[in-house]
Amino acid sequence: MNDMTAHHPSLPIAPVLSRASFSGAPGAAGGARPPSVLDAGQVRMVTSGRVAIALALRQMGVRQGDEVLVPAYHSPSMVPPVLWCGATPVFYRVGPDASVDLADVAARIGPATRAIMVTNYFGFPQQLETIRAFCDARGLQLLEDCAHCFFGEHRGKPVGSWGDYAIASSMKFFPTYEGGALVSARHRLDAVALQPGGLGFEAKAALATLENSFAYGRLPAVRALLRLPMGLKDLAWRALKARRSGASGTGAGAALAPASSDSGFDFEPRWVDKRSAWFSRAVMKLASSRRICTLRRRHYLALEEATRGLPGCRPLFFTLPEGVVPWQFPLLLDDPEFVFARLHAAGVPLVRFAHARWPGVDAGTCANSSMLAQRVIAFPCHQELRPNELAWMAGQLRQVLLAQAVAA
Ligand SMILES: *Cc1c(COP(=O)(O)O)cnc(C)c1O
Repeated sequence: MNDMTAHHPSLPIAPVLSRASFSGAPGAAGGARPPSVLDAGQVRMVTSGRVAIALALRQMGVRQGDEVLVPAYHSPSMVPPVLWCGATPVFYRVGPDASVDLADVAARIGPATRAIMVTNYFGFPQQLETIRAFCDARGLQLLEDCAHCFFGEHRGKPVGSWGDYAIASSMKFFPTYEGGALVSARHRLDAVALQPGGLGFEAKAALATLENSFAYGRLPAVRALLRLPMGLKDLAWRALKARRSGASGTGAGAALAPASSDSGFDFEPRWVDKRSAWFSRAVMKLASSRRICTLRRRHYLALEEATRGLPGCRPLFFTLPEGVVPWQFPLLLDDPEFVFARLHAAGVPLVRFAHARWPGVDAGTCANSSMLAQRVIAFPCHQELRPNELAWMAGQLRQVLLAQAVAA
């Protein structure tokens, strides 16, 4: 088992900037650009998905004393925006495949219920037309959470088209340091006025993206070019921070970028009305969406192929339908702790979505959420994985699943 602890360069868990980010899809013909949530309606580019949730709830008029239905299978980052509005989250159940349990939702609707948040997990749309009809029949506003599906279509329409409002998270699909989107196919967003995040924020968004890229061996020529300026940057950084803390009057010195960019679950009201950085928006505009969609689907299918027929596991979703652009490859495991420990030790990046949930949300709230949070391990399939990185990860996965079968 010594091979499990051998040294490997760990792979980027999320997209990192490379020269290829701006090239077209390999081997893909022309044709229509793949649809994204930004095609669903009017758009506001903000600094994170959770900020977009807060703005959506504010636009809905959600306030003190209201209730918002939130899936028990969730990222803890989805809850603070509800509290920020003064509302109470009410958690509803999902099925064993993470589908919305509408019977349970119906049972939890009360006089104070204003809205429901519905997540298209891992990039796979829910039964959105059924959910939309359900909301219309009961006067509920629908917030379509597209944090896992920046791209894709469902029944001929872009994802995000069903909600009164939809939200997306840029960092999960693009090599950017920050970013989120508020979208509405049904309401005007004219009243949502955003302010720039400031010079320090703009600089941080660009430099942090480059540094993350360099950390994974991308853009070596740019790195060489920037060696001296990056050294000077640390000095400039300290000076800037010192000036900010002096000027802010609070003494503490506000951070240059939101905590959401550093993979925390915090929610900072100060970033609610801020526009996404220029650099992030430029990267999103210049990146090839066809390449993102083609490679994510290809990588997903490669991981599915690598695990096919192996004991103790199956993909959470049985097929990858046309029009779905996956966030990650979710695998349902019989012995997740064994697999997690081995792969983690080998340096394979993995995500256990909803492993941490909002305090009080447990198996009593929703047995399926607890089961999924425990048994699903998701693997990156993003467009910036290199062929050798993908092959290495698939090999590690096969090896551990076979070892698990022997150990069982
Ligand atoms: C990541 C995530 C969010 C929040 O997005 P951020 O950009 O991290 O704020 C919302 N919903 C789901 C399901 C997520 O996974």
